[in-house]
Amino acid sequence: MAKIVLVLYDDPVDGYPKSYARDDIPNITKYPDGQTAPTPSAIDFTPGELLGSVSGELGLRKYLESNGHTLVVTSDKDGANSKLDQELHDAEIVISQPFWPAYMTAERIAKAPKLKAIITAGIGSDHTDLQAAMDRGITVAEVTYCNSNSVAEHVVMQMLSLVRNYIPSYNWVTKGGWNIADCVARSYDIEGMHVGTVAAGRIGLRVLRLLKPFDVNLHYLDRHRLPESVEKELNLTHHTSLESLAKACDIVTLNCPLHPETEHMINDETLKFFKRGTYLVNTARGKLCDRDAIVRALESGKLAGYAGDVWFPQPAPQDHPWRTMPHHGMTPHISGTSLSAQARYAAGTREILEAYFSGKPIRDEYLVVQGGKLAGVGAHSYSAGNATGGSEEAAKFKKVN
Ligand code: NDP
Repeated sequence: MAKIVLVLYDDPVDGYPKSYARDDIPNITKYPDGQTAPTPSAIDFTPGELLGSVSGELGLRKYLESNGHTLVVTSDKDGANSKLDQELHDAEIVISQPFWPAYMTAERIAKAPKLKAIITAGIGSDHTDLQAAMDRGITVAEVTYCNSNSVAEHVVMQMLSLVRNYIPSYNWVTKGGWNIADCVARSYDIEGMHVGTVAAGRIGLRVLRLLKPFDVNLHYLDRHRLPESVEKELNLTHHTSLESLAKACDIVTLNCPLHPETEHMINDETLKFFKRGTYLVNTARGKLCDRDAIVRALESGKLAGYAGDVWFPQPAPQDHPWRTMPHHGMTPHISGTSLSAQARYAAGTREILEAYFSGKPIRDEYLVVQGGKLAGVGAHSYSAGNATGGSEEAAKFKKVN
């Protein structure tokens, strides 16, 4: 029987909810490309309830314990004496969400001799040292597509909030003001602007589709071209370099995975390609950007605004400069963990566990690493190597909280 360590974010500071804002959520059974939503044999949770925090347990306890397994749930994941570290010695499976990632570095993997699987309850397994997982023959899987559309909605929301200067205007209202000129001195329409996505995968393409009705000019940069029919339908301009995309666009959004090839793709040098006053929205991964180069670009006016929900490390230390830089619209990492998304990735995690324990194949579209190499979706989306460097900084958040 296996020990499963499940790392989840903390419950709300005012307690686990006793009731919810809505009574139900739409039941999504298929994604836009035809992939089916997760199909576990059963679920032991109510869709629409908070599952991603410690008390929610991704709805997994009944299933795991009734099959004789041991489930340890904790939010204590950073620093050498964390509960996660204490539990690793006999853990067979570690599960975490990118919003509150259990950084599975080579050192941590070495502390877990029985570890056989690392599951990302969500999308994006860059918090695991994939090279170390490959070297140890550990399976890495994620719940592909579970929250791609959720993130795309967040991207569009943040683009509009930056361009229209929503957050400062909202703040004037709560301060009791009616300062129209202060609000509109940085407010524009998105209509007619040029908007580009770095990567047109599940999220990037969804963003392009959602933006089409705003009558903007759409651009994308991707290693592979979208089908001609899609390019025509959305009137897309394809770019083969970041330089070309950045020079053409007023708004740029990053939607590619973080791996050694994409780390710090936005830096002082590449920012030179951007038009003055570009808005940058990054809900993909914080480390795609050089942290301090973003601050400098906002201070100089090269960027008119920066928003997103991804930081490095996570949780971001209190003194992380993105908390206080000018003209930002950052949220904590929440775009892919709406209550709607949680229901899908909790079910997807259970589906992966059911396959694992019954010796059946995990869906190819969920696999990142298997049998010592990149596999399934991972072979397409990731490069071998490690992107967890510096993750020990996440312990700084813990020290003051
Ligand atoms: P997909 O795998 O569908 O899309 C990724 C795309 O990135 C693919 O089209 C791939 O291109 C492209 N790509 C990879 N490397 C490069 C590169 N160097 N330059 C340009 N394009 C590149 O994944 P999703 O769209 O579902 O998710 C994308 C990322 O978003 C995830 O990896 C994750 O990091 C992040 N994410 C964030 C969430 C949040 O809550 N904020 C939630 C979910 C995901 P190709 O296929 O042509 O090789």
